[in-house]
Amino acid sequence: MSALIYSFDHPAGESLDALCLRFGNKAVGLIEMTRLGLPVPAGFAISVDAGRALMAPDAPFPESLRVAVGEGLERVEAATGLRFGDPTAPLLVSVRSGASASMPGMLDSVLNVGLDRSTLDGLAQRGGRRFALDAYRRLLQMFGDVVLSVPRDVFEKLLAGTKTRLGRPAMLDSELDAEALEALTTAFEAHLTHASPALFPCSPQRQLELAITSVYRSWNNPRAQRYRGLQGIPDELGTACVVQAMVFGNHGPRSGAGVAFTRNPSTGERQLYGEFLAQAQGEDVVAGARTPSSLGAKSAIPGREDRSLERSDPEAFARVEQLAAALEVHFRDVQDIEFTVEDGRVYLLQTRSAKRTAEASVRIAVSLATEGKVSRDEALAMVDANAIANLLRTRLPSAEELLARDIKPIATGLAASPGVAVGRIVFDPEAAERMAAEGQDVLLVRRDTTPEDIVAMKGARGILTAAGGLTSHAAVLSRALGKCCVAGASTLQVDYASGTLTARPRRGSDEPPRTFTVGDTLTVDGSTGRVYAGALDVVAASTLPELDTLLAWADERRTVRVRANADTPRDVRAAAAFGAEGIGLCRTEHMFFADERLAALRCVVLAIDEQERERWVGRIESMQRGDFEQIFEAMAGHPVTIRLLDWPLHEFMPRDDASLAAVAKDLNVPLREARRRAGSRNEVNPMIGHRGVRVGLTIPAIYRAQIRAVISAAVTVSRAGRAVAPELLIPLTAVGEEVRRVADAVRAIAEEVFAELGARVAFKVGTMIELPRACLVAGQMARHVDFFSFGTNDLTQTTFGISRDDSTHFIPAYVDELGVLPQNPFRTLDVVGVGELITMAIDRGRAAHPGLGLGVCGAQGGEARSIQFFADHGVDYVSCDLSRLVVARLAAAQAAARIARSPH
Ligand code: PEP
Ligand code: MG
Repeated sequence: MSALIYSFDHPAGESLDALCLRFGNKAVGLIEMTRLGLPVPAGFAISVDAGRALMAPDAPFPESLRVAVGEGLERVEAATGLRFGDPTAPLLVSVRSGASASMPGMLDSVLNVGLDRSTLDGLAQRGGRRFALDAYRRLLQMFGDVVLSVPRDVFEKLLAGTKTRLGRPAMLDSELDAEALEALTTAFEAHLTHASPALFPCSPQRQLELAITSVYRSWNNPRAQRYRGLQGIPDELGTACVVQAMVFGNHGPRSGAGVAFTRNPSTGERQLYGEFLAQAQGEDVVAGARTPSSLGAKSAIPGREDRSLERSDPEAFARVEQLAAALEVHFRDVQDIEFTVEDGRVYLLQTRSAKRTAEASVRIAVSLATEGKVSRDEALAMVDANAIANLLRTRLPSAEELLARDIKPIATGLAASPGVAVGRIVFDPEAAERMAAEGQDVLLVRRDTTPEDIVAMKGARGILTAAGGLTSHAAVLSRALGKCCVAGASTLQVDYASGTLTARPRRGSDEPPRTFTVGDTLTVDGSTGRVYAGALDVVAASTLPELDTLLAWADERRTVRVRANADTPRDVRAAAAFGAEGIGLCRTEHMFFADERLAALRCVVLAIDEQERERWVGRIESMQRGDFEQIFEAMAGHPVTIRLLDWPLHEFMPRDDASLAAVAKDLNVPLREARRRAGSRNEVNPMIGHRGVRVGLTIPAIYRAQIRAVISAAVTVSRAGRAVAPELLIPLTAVGEEVRRVADAVRAIAEEVFAELGARVAFKVGTMIELPRACLVAGQMARHVDFFSFGTNDLTQTTFGISRDDSTHFIPAYVDELGVLPQNPFRTLDVVGVGELITMAIDRGRAAHPGLGLGVCGAQGGEARSIQFFADHGVDYVSCDLSRLVVARLAAAQAAARIARSPH
């Protein structure tokens, strides 16, 4: 066999992983299913490399590829007893793309290739003239669109014109008779000949070569490029091409095409889930143009159970169920399967790991492990840790509760992807994309969606469509993106031209229709399919029991500890309830938001008389002592890292007259003088100005008060019989001497407090590492402290020289549009740059002080890929916001499992 192709029935030899890179995922699924003896139509894959020669616009079809394709076809002919291009028993094939990364719906396919006027009669022998003509008009449509670039709506208009002439504009495509199809195909042919006389009509052989070429070139269509940009799939990967004998879902009443998920990809429930369109070919199901019926009767829309495959063809349903179960066991994961039923026989056309919601992924992972189908480590690895932060989701109150408040839905569609979205209606995907980038809450409303809408969908709060089913692009992509989606809300009429959305009342209701225009606000509930006018309040969602199980497994597996960033006693109590193993960062500046505290701090900074300053410092100390006592109590002996004040000074200086007057009164100075002193604190660039340890050293009274408050609170709580583990942290250090002075001060002040109170507690002193210079001189710093805490927010800001507050103006463009950066470094650690500095700091720090503790408290400490880096580099703990704790717990377990698997 030529190296350019691989027949599905080729005897095993190469591993599937090796084949995947050369022939793509789709081919590997088909090869594996063929090896298992499952009903897969014969076919072959053409390699990614073979396609590279076809990418240039005028590239001829290489002779070596022509020979290889001929060889592949011969094997298919032998298996089917048909012949490609034969007028009496013609073989037809599908030509589909298939890369090694999943890109659902982004690349092109052409079905029924090999059909033309010379083979039409031969096909008609197999299934009648109407069937043959229906297959032919589909080929003309797809060939026209994919190969000849004829806009799709040309065909839609001709199709609609035919139906109108027959007097039934709403009739289904499957109801067109042979005569109508004859006229329609003639009209399509005329159009294609007119559009591309050099390429159409053409022989079956030429059709095949053109289809193969176009499928490869679809790799570079704009929607595929954008999708790759968004998903981080490299452009050089390229697609393979799959050529496979056609089986016909449009062959007659016991035929159709379907999509089956081995479990519900929205909820994770263990039930065969999916959709089926009778008398249709595959593209009809995913395109969302017709609303299919469900596979199982239980998951059907109430009243439509009889249309389900389970009721309409129980035998075929049972066969799909049996095949699905076998595939799930074999591939050790939930599968998304495409199948066709031809005259009651089920054929498998594709299987791949199913995209799923975060909620479903957790339930699926836990049940597969509990059922013994995968190991616990595999179950942990199956869940995207970053995605589960969304599981702390919001929900609407129940429909009954809302009804009691006289709030009724304006429409109900299919619950396609869970969650609640409140946003302003936008129809135009480009406008939606723009408004979302500006930070507006957008609800993308479409008749149905096409893969081109992906960027708009990504930015939108939620998606609402009037047509399409649960496996339409809108629904599949929403689930993949974790977006709330209501699909197929068929009582809604979307009018793009007038920019209106009209909600028709349900049948039997006497309420008038309601019309909404662009910019109006709606609330959609993707868990129930309900759509409401206006912005409704949400309530907190209950968590999944399976999430608790998964997290318990994660906690057993991981070695990196997980702490929370929390600043007030209330947040610390919440962190304890969420399983935090300590507080990794208590930003004490956040404790000064209350009016009287702010006033006291302002007086400390603006006082010039030391005695006056002492009075205010005393107040700060006693206020903070109370907070720290509560925090230590809530953390019950877990470490609590309290950072000394780190605020750009000017940010809390009084500005308005009322607060200036208050300070003037407190300090007993004229208003003018208070204004002058506050003005003298103004800074041009406060982020790198009088901040952090620089304040601590220049106005030592503030740190002194804070240190006293922490240590005395710890002694008080410890005396009451509770364990405490206080840690003091010095912010924004760049110089070893800064660290030495403050660390020495902490130890000396602690001794002073111990002597005053007649009791001691153990405590630690650490420094933030959040400036590049700190990384360089980490060895000098490490000598004076017990631990380092990496402040990756400031370290990213100062390494890149990008202000963290202003980065949103261009980082999204850098990442999503221009591809200058692979990801936002303020979210995911920039391993090559900032990571290199961290590595250096760890090496130098530990060389100078072998027992040095290591933690991370910037936002990247709650992000899965960054956590892998920190785990690899021997960090003891990560500390993150409350909402990211679940992410960090799971990601740390995944990192531990990976480290255990790796040979080093
Ligand atoms: C940091 O810089 O990463 C950090 C945790 O400190 P802050 O965000 O408070 O500057
Ligand atoms: Mg910082």
